[in-house]
Amino acid sequence: MKYFIIYIFYYDLFYYFMHRLLHTKYFYTIHKNHHSSYKIEYLDFFKVNLFEYPLSSIGLYIALYFYGIYIYQLLMCICFICLRGMLEHDNKFVFIVGNHHLYHHKYIYYNYGEYWTDYIFGTLYKIKNIQ
Ligand SMILES: [Zn+2]
Ligand SMILES: [Zn+2]
Repeated sequence: MKYFIIYIFYYDLFYYFMHRLLHTKYFYTIHKNHHSSYKIEYLDFFKVNLFEYPLSSIGLYIALYFYGIYIYQLLMCICFICLRGMLEHDNKFVFIVGNHHLYHHKYIYYNYGEYWTDYIFGTLYKIKNIQ
């Protein structure tokens, strides 16, 4: 279980930076399809450019390199990331995972990652930010 948590931590940390990078004018063309739906639902988690999968998983590769590959914990980690991602893209599951990522789809310069990364790096959506 220890490595599962480490894998998720590294994934989330580096996903934040990759996602911010994808919102710059140089890379947004890769990412804009993900933001093209009027009403998002759970399958929109997979509505990304093929290059985004390897790019957004850089943190996972770094963790695997430094801590080693624990295959069952890695598989659990991948399942967790996919399940969490799907839940975060659907209004029906706000009661489980909150609306953090749904706000990213509404205000694209906030909430790039998970709550904790946005809190640390100052991109957490707050109502007072948008006025
Ligand atoms: Zn999204
Ligand atoms: Zn985005």
